[in-house]
Amino acid sequence: MSESPAPTTSDVIVVGAGLAGLSCAVRLHELGHRIRVFEAADGVGGRVRTDNVDGFLLDRGFQVYLDAYPEAGKLLDLEALDLRSFEPGALVWKKGELRSVLDVFRKPSALFSSAFAPIGSMWDKLLVAKLRFHLLRKHVSDIWQGPEMTTSNYLRKFGFSDRIIDDFFRSFYGGVFLEDLLVTSSRLFEFTFKMFSSGSATLPNAGMQAIPEQLATRLPENAISLNRPVDSVTSDHIMIEDTRQEADHIVLATDGATAARLLGAEIAPRWNSTSCLYFSADEAPFEEAIIALHGDREGLIHNLCVPSAVAPGYAPDGKSLISVSVIGNQEDNADLTRAIEAELVEWFGEKAETWKHLRTEHILQALPVDPLGNETEICRHESIWICGDHTRSGSIEGAIISGLETANRISEKE
Ligand SMILES: Cc1cc2nc3c(=O)[nH]c(=O)nc-3n(C[C@H](O)[C@H](O)[C@H](O)COP(=O)(O)OP(=O)(O)OC[C@H]3O[C@@H](n4cnc5c(N)ncnc54)[C@H](O)[C@@H]3O)c2cc1C
Repeated sequence: MSESPAPTTSDVIVVGAGLAGLSCAVRLHELGHRIRVFEAADGVGGRVRTDNVDGFLLDRGFQVYLDAYPEAGKLLDLEALDLRSFEPGALVWKKGELRSVLDVFRKPSALFSSAFAPIGSMWDKLLVAKLRFHLLRKHVSDIWQGPEMTTSNYLRKFGFSDRIIDDFFRSFYGGVFLEDLLVTSSRLFEFTFKMFSSGSATLPNAGMQAIPEQLATRLPENAISLNRPVDSVTSDHIMIEDTRQEADHIVLATDGATAARLLGAEIAPRWNSTSCLYFSADEAPFEEAIIALHGDREGLIHNLCVPSAVAPGYAPDGKSLISVSVIGNQEDNADLTRAIEAELVEWFGEKAETWKHLRTEHILQALPVDPLGNETEICRHESIWICGDHTRSGSIEGAIISGLETANRISEKE
């Protein structure tokens, strides 16, 4: 735990210890405020949690940290997170074969296999280079303030063929947005494309929860109370069961749906959902630290990877961890595991029959649906502040920025 800075200014309660709440609390603590964080769950991290099951690290839903995130990169100690990188690009399962679509600018040796992979035309591949060039030069703030349309319209307007949109973009960005019609805002597409182009997708070797845990260690001891769901919020206090806790400022850093409920808002945000199935294997289906996408999108598997091939901490010695993601709400699909196991045998042959199913995570409230023109006011009342990915973008960077901005604005008000 870090040392307390002086002098103490106002008293702030933060509701929720996800990345937004923790970032807000860390910044407020650095600025000298007295902070208390109340979290409903039994650990910090919110949607970024990891469970250790027999030595396998199972993130609650497959997700990655993009090491080019500008604000998260300034706040976190990335070296201490021991980030391990995915290879740029992807393998695409198409017509019964896995083909490489690698980022040839960052991996020139991939030029031959990528140029001739049957995913999109040569013209599409040139357009990918043009888009990369364009977005690497575009400033992040210009992206968020620029024109907005659906990602699918954006790609068509840029000149991409229906074939590459279907075979690659819907598969790759379907996994990023957790919806494959690509109705998500083109701003989020531009932002993530820029991040993927300028850095790597990574996993901390100790699992994704290492990220929120690192932030929690920067708060004073006892600042975070776990298993304390907040029942109601007013401008000067919160209620947890019958206990009243007063403060000068209250920060609602819950997910958007809970914030709407606590504020009595009529419109609750909608969500994109996903399920993640984990398997253990004696031998990895492929050794590359790369994501594999279903290019045909005819089955349930949307994407899969071998986290232990990226970060060895994810599996015990001599074992491999395989993560399979499905998009949409699959909670009521009783046959999901059997259907996925059958698809895995189609992809990898009989060896997939020996894999052991470890766990399925259904995450119904994974990413807030990102409506076009999404602008959420940060300060709702005089002293109730709202942060979280739903106020920015459904991403680790979006959550962290929202927390930091809220902390800065509270301090400016003093
Ligand atoms: C499956 C999945 C894949 C993702 N993939 C990526 C990815 O690859 N890259 C990326 O950058 N982002 C990804 N994201 C998004 C990213 O994880 C989220 O945007 C971010 O973690 C949201 O943080 P938050 O603090 O805004 O909200 P949350 O993490 O939801 O935190 C809110 C906190 O509030 C607590 N809370 C709720 N109600 C109460 C209450 N009444 N009282 C007290 N506490 C309460 C919750 O328990 C929670 O801890 C993914 C998310 C999911 C789920």
